[in-house]
Amino acid sequence: MNTKEIIELGDKYLMRNYGRIPLVPVKGEGVRMWDADGREYLDFVSGIAVNALGHSPLAVVEAVSEQVKKMIHCSNLYYIENQVLLAKLLVENSCMDKAFFCNSGAEANEAALKLARKYAKIKHNQEKVEIVTALNSFHGRTLFTITATGQPKYQKGFEPLPGGIKYVPYNDLQALQEAVGPSTCAVLLEPVQGEGGVHAASAGYLKGAKALCEEYGALLIFDEVQTGLARTGRLFAYEHFGVEPDIITLAKALGGGFPIGAMLAKEEAAVFQPGDHASTFGGNPLACAAALAALEEIIDGGIVRYVNDIGAILYNKLVELSSKYDFVKEVRGRGLLLGMELSIEGKDIVSACQEKGLLINCVGGNVLRFVPPLIVDSTEVKKAVEILDQVMSDIDSKL
Ligand SMILES: *Cc1c(COP(=O)(O)O)cnc(C)c1O
Repeated sequence: MNTKEIIELGDKYLMRNYGRIPLVPVKGEGVRMWDADGREYLDFVSGIAVNALGHSPLAVVEAVSEQVKKMIHCSNLYYIENQVLLAKLLVENSCMDKAFFCNSGAEANEAALKLARKYAKIKHNQEKVEIVTALNSFHGRTLFTITATGQPKYQKGFEPLPGGIKYVPYNDLQALQEAVGPSTCAVLLEPVQGEGGVHAASAGYLKGAKALCEEYGALLIFDEVQTGLARTGRLFAYEHFGVEPDIITLAKALGGGFPIGAMLAKEEAAVFQPGDHASTFGGNPLACAAALAALEEIIDGGIVRYVNDIGAILYNKLVELSSKYDFVKEVRGRGLLLGMELSIEGKDIVSACQEKGLLINCVGGNVLRFVPPLIVDSTEVKKAVEILDQVMSDIDSKL
């Protein structure tokens, strides 16, 4: 089928829950991607920070190909070797002790919030149920996680929402101090807000959050679904801040493109008992084979250090653009999770870049988000910034 035919069928048969761009990706290799008409793109969206090792990385392709012939799925009624090995690798490379596997970021956060409620009931009392989250956060699309997401646009129309969630402005320690108390069971934060516009936590904020959680016996949960696994220039973003949370959630990059999510917890917080939580597909042999291969490559392949170097190159080039164009307000972020805030809407820039062969996306209406594969090289960065520069120059001349 050609692009037009696929789009027509899609509009007829698919639910209208996405504002889809009329582009049909059919093949990817590293940072490059091709559409159904054979046009080539530099992919700086990477499935929204999923394809950390690029499209179809060899290590993942080989691990999945081998595993798929042996066994695709088996139940968590049994022990699964790949799942055990993946848990070991995650635990040995983080401050965490125990792992639970699921299939997505929302499920990982759902598990974390359930664990926090359970923990408070077991260790404290029945009234300790409140969860504090940040405005502009993003935690997923299940009913509990849209409620934890501090953005009304994701909640509208789905009421009644689960209760017991309080919102505070991000990076405002005083507001957090006022919100956290004896009835708080957990504070849930992204170390860098991704979907909310690429805002990193300030130096003292997460430390302050940790101190408050300790004071009131609440659990500190870091949603590292987007920031985790080298994206920010550390294997986990918490390492930037010198703060160890009690629970970490992961998904996006974990499977090297294959769907898998994880919730990691410290021993003290890992209070789930048999029957408390489960997932049919979570941690299946195939997903864990993909994740094992991806994670080994990230850890052993020097990716963390590389992200710091290449991230700095991209950041500096974006800053150069910001001094050239008045409509660029700020460039910010960590590693290869970078945002460029504009004083104009970003959607025309996104579509003009696409026309010229560069895929980026825009969050919050006016923040261009750059989340290329972590293996992007300096030539690809240079080409991407050249395209963006051309597009911005065109727009500038029309303002
Ligand atoms: C993408 C994202 C999620 C949701 O992940 P899904 O796999 O889409 O459920 C949750 N939290 C953060 C920080 C994310 O970026």
